[in-house]
Amino acid sequence: MVTYMYTGRYPHYAPYDTTELLHCVDVYAIAEMYQVQGLKEFATAHFKDCIVFNLTSTIFPKVVKDIYESTVDGSRGLRDAVSNAAARSIRDDDTLNNSKFNKALDEVADFRKDVMKRLAKEQAVTIECPISTCDFQILIKAAALDSGREEICPECQYRSTYSYWHQVED
Ligand SMILES: [Zn+2]
Repeated sequence: MVTYMYTGRYPHYAPYDTTELLHCVDVYAIAEMYQVQGLKEFATAHFKDCIVFNLTSTIFPKVVKDIYESTVDGSRGLRDAVSNAAARSIRDDDTLNNSKFNKALDEVADFRKDVMKRLAKEQAVTIECPISTCDFQILIKAAALDSGREEICPECQYRSTYSYWHQVED
């Protein structure tokens, strides 16, 4: 905290250094307590760099536990960072079958929920143009359904957000 106040950053460690992750969690909690937004963002960015190398490390369950115990639900920085990283590599057998990774999923229910929500958003869905004379279909990520962005059907040029398109059951 004091280091940050004077220099705008805190000392840097290698991404493989597991204690660095816990340090990020501590810094984030302190930054939240004193409402130092810049420091929260800095800790989150640094955390993201390190966490990808540590999803199966001995320290991972403690990292997850500390994050969910030291932050509230509305404070998304580290919660999103860790659950997104977990969701991204959960299809990797080495991660999915890893005992440390599973310990974190077992012990922290809110982490489990966040990973599931992230996976649901990343799930691919097939949707069909809502114009009845057009049968154009496209495969998109579920998250794109409520992006709010207008899309143009390449076949009939109908313009709308994907929320108006029909989901195709498989
Ligand atoms: Zn169409």
